[in-house]
Amino acid sequence: MDQGFIVGGRRVFGSTGESFAVVDPATGEPFARVAQAAPADVDLAVREAREALEDRRWSLITPLERGRILNRIGELVRERGDELAALMCRENGMTLNYALYVEIPMVGDAFSYYGGLVPQVGGETLPFAFPGAPPDYLAMTLKEPVGVAAQITPWNFPLLMPAWKIAPALAAGCPVVLKPSSETPLTALFLAELCLAAGVPEGMVNVVTGPGTTVGRTLVTHPDVRKIAFTGETATGRSILRDAAGGIKRVTLELGGKSPNIVFEDADLEAAVGGALLGVFLNQGQICQAGSRILVQESIYEAFVARFAERAKSLTVGPGTDALSDLGPVISRDQLLKVGDYVASGLAAGAQLLTGGGRPELPSPFDRGFFVQPTVFGSVTPDMAIAREEIFGPVAAIMTFKSEEELVRVANSTIYGLAGAVWTRDVKRAFRVARGIGSGTVWINTYHLLSPAAPFGGYKQSGLGRELGRQGLESYLETKTVIVDLNDTPVSYF
Ligand code: NDP
Repeated sequence: MDQGFIVGGRRVFGSTGESFAVVDPATGEPFARVAQAAPADVDLAVREAREALEDRRWSLITPLERGRILNRIGELVRERGDELAALMCRENGMTLNYALYVEIPMVGDAFSYYGGLVPQVGGETLPFAFPGAPPDYLAMTLKEPVGVAAQITPWNFPLLMPAWKIAPALAAGCPVVLKPSSETPLTALFLAELCLAAGVPEGMVNVVTGPGTTVGRTLVTHPDVRKIAFTGETATGRSILRDAAGGIKRVTLELGGKSPNIVFEDADLEAAVGGALLGVFLNQGQICQAGSRILVQESIYEAFVARFAERAKSLTVGPGTDALSDLGPVISRDQLLKVGDYVASGLAAGAQLLTGGGRPELPSPFDRGFFVQPTVFGSVTPDMAIAREEIFGPVAAIMTFKSEEELVRVANSTIYGLAGAVWTRDVKRAFRVARGIGSGTVWINTYHLLSPAAPFGGYKQSGLGRELGRQGLESYLETKTVIVDLNDTPVSYF
């Protein structure tokens, strides 16, 4: 049955009656259809959002109550966690274990964190003196919502990405028009329903579904949209930045990465191997901050790759619904082919295939799913495509380094700068390297740890601005300065 998208708190089926299929990556079979928005529907959604802002149906609710509503969304996400996890597993392919025990709690926490920040949104009073004038002035800053926020999300985390955008926007008072990836629209629609059920007024959270090139672009260029928050590929980010330039819109971009995971000879080898497996294979490697470049100090290279490849080989690939699966399928046939092309490119460039590289044998109907074996390449050099480009699949590229100086140069040698990690027992070296890596997040002796309180985003072509933390909230706020003349003598200049 077709699902409508959400405009002004109602499900609508679009002005053209067109719809598109959502495919289960574990079987390659479509299992749902979603209505496709036309530009006129996007316009309607933006108008609903603008009206919600203008009639102050959210801002007139007390800050404490708005905070409670955000907390309530988090509670509903946890209460409905089983359904949400099953849906994510179906449309994205992620394992149920990951969805239930990682994604659901992270989303609940994001709403709780921003719920707690709502009553703290405010400006400050400032010392103010106007040269040559009487002294009694009061100056202050007010914080105001930027306006209607267009939010465009990818398919790799169908719940977390919308949550990281909706929660700070609502905390700041911005109405939202969200366009989820066409691969995974159902989870975002479910989340919007939960927002409404928690008490978010109609029109504050709208979801429009359909292709980025039409629905996304209409949204980005809409004159009533003031802020754009995008997560996706770097190339798409560039195009959005160009489209947003006409209206001088506020833009935050969370883009791609090729993050270095660095292992020194003094590291706890078993911990580093485990952390590197987590870094590159979690969610089938479809994570922007995946540690897909593993840089190992030459003296421990043989020991590291032997253990890493052995453990990678032992991982179970299968449908996300199977509790024994460590890795599910990648998102789509296109993604499967893209990963295959990178494997071929690694082989052609002379990298050593240590394990994987193909598709696992699975029984029907999963033999038609988009499964890839965890793949490990050794003897990779920094010039190879598998060492420079984002594969967004379960492919690890392992390289060696001799000195710290060489390491930092190689670690920083891509266009990306999203994340990185360093494994060592030497605390001074850990901090030196953490400082030397040009990326938005650096982990020391761990990987993938995130908190809603910790800003997340990229250096270089990995992004613009930050999500999460107070900085994430700020990106939805304008600062207005108000200056009051309290002097009895009026200003006399002319
Ligand atoms: P895309 O950039 O292809 O798409 C992301 C979203 O943008 C989708 O909703 C897409 O719509 C939409 N879109 C596509 N073209 C346009 C356009 N011209 N204008 C407006 N919207 C558009 O990325 P993927 O969905 O393929 O996601 C994978 C990518 O996302 C990876 O490269 C990964 O690194 C990155 N990513 C980055 C993260 C970060 O925090 N830095 C986090 C997660 C992913 P549709 O697909 O429906 O047509």
